[in-house]
Amino acid sequence: MSNDIPPREKEEDVETILASGMTTPSRRGWKGIIAVDMDDVLCQTNATIVHMHNELFNTQPPLTLDDFKNYLYWMNRGWGSPEETVGMVAKLYQGGLYMRAPPVPGAKEALHQLKDLGYDLIIITARSETQRTGTEEWITKYLPDIFDEIHFTGAFQHLEPTKEEKEGHVARKAVVSHHKRSKAEIIHSTSSLFLIDDSSENAYDVSTSKYPHNLPTKVLLFGEYPWNAIVHDPTQKAELEAMTYLEKEQKGLLDESERLRQKKIKEGWLPPGVERVGNWEKVVQWVKKFDQSRDI
Ligand SMILES: [Mg+2]
Repeated sequence: MSNDIPPREKEEDVETILASGMTTPSRRGWKGIIAVDMDDVLCQTNATIVHMHNELFNTQPPLTLDDFKNYLYWMNRGWGSPEETVGMVAKLYQGGLYMRAPPVPGAKEALHQLKDLGYDLIIITARSETQRTGTEEWITKYLPDIFDEIHFTGAFQHLEPTKEEKEGHVARKAVVSHHKRSKAEIIHSTSSLFLIDDSSENAYDVSTSKYPHNLPTKVLLFGEYPWNAIVHDPTQKAELEAMTYLEKEQKGLLDESERLRQKKIKEGWLPPGVERVGNWEKVVQWVKKFDQSRDI
């Protein structure tokens, strides 16, 4: 095995896995951990949201997947402010979004192939801990016996109504500050080899973070989706690109925004450490090549 890959540094990590009842990683032929995002990598969340959004909120003209030009919904047509958007997403989940989202084509077969190649798989999702039950039910139904750990970063939890607002006391904020972690932190603490994620924002954050090893690739940017057609360099971001859809609409900047978007799609910039993979079949091909390059 190449010296680039450190073994799991701390024995207590393994004990933690045992204590939580998860499978102990097999040591024989073990090649390391691959971290996998959930929404639109494992399950077709946004495609399902399109249907449910049109049923529930009656946006006109009806929403399509092409309206999802940004990973953050409030940057797109059909939503509201960040807080309103989080409230709308909560309604979609209450309406059964968890179980209505089918798996991404080829995910199950590909994940089993990666396991057979000797990798352990973990999920790192921006969903919050409060979504654990619905998330685990989905995994149990569609992708059982594949993942060793699920990490919830709660990336949007700060936008949810606090308990104080909702129920008249203040417990929530302490919980949020305790649980919120970045995907990069979890990649580091689990010594994962790389992340498979459909968000170009996550791809940028993780690829520019401190990493547990010096392999060239940190993120496989998954899927050919409108929301990941551009990877933004936050240091080069135009003011226009930081505005919500509603702000751009009010200021008459929607056409200009689309022109800028098309220009950036053509430029096709990717941060070092990020590679695009269009679907699960291509992920497996990529990992097999990666195996050969590691000479193991
Ligand atoms: Mg995702």
